Amino acid sequence: MELKDAIIDLCRPDFYYKSIYDINLQQLKELGINGLICDLDNTLLAWNHHQVEPQIKEWIAHIKELGISVCILSNSLQVRVDKISNILQLPAVSQALKPRKRAFKTAINKLNVNSNRIAVIGDQLFTDVFGGNRLDLLTILVDPIADKEFVTTKLIRLLEKNFKKELELIQKE
Ligand SMILES: [Mg+2]
Repeated sequence: MELKDAIIDLCRPDFYYKSIYDINLQQLKELGINGLICDLDNTLLAWNHHQVEPQIKEWIAHIKELGISVCILSNSLQVRVDKISNILQLPAVSQALKPRKRAFKTAINKLNVNSNRIAVIGDQLFTDVFGGNRLDLLTILVDPIADKEFVTTKLIRLLEKNFKKELELIQKE
């Protein structure tokens, strides 16, 4: 396989949904998923927002009811991540430097679930999906909640746009 193809393959999510609320949780259960590593910014919350909407709490509660454990994995600073993880009562790993493997491994350990039963959810191909695929985890891409974000992230979005075309991603309803 050519290097380019190998890299493209590592950025290909297993599933692609508009938002976390569209994810077919029943299907994940049927696939044997017992643990979720979930990105924070623009996946659970709009970037830099601190308000935790009731809808997120309900979604997390529903996941827990299904017997699935959740760990937040974020590149954001500890002070912000801790605040949200306290509100949602979830373990978290901050300043993760995704797509580096190390923090993913920490999150896997916190979940205490076998890695072939873990899915990663995130809004970025080059951090969440690439990082998860490197460790052979199931990967789920969602569209970012808001457009407002770091300038560098905006640049990455441009690259992502081309990648999404290349991957011919089809969003599930
Ligand atoms: Mg994100």
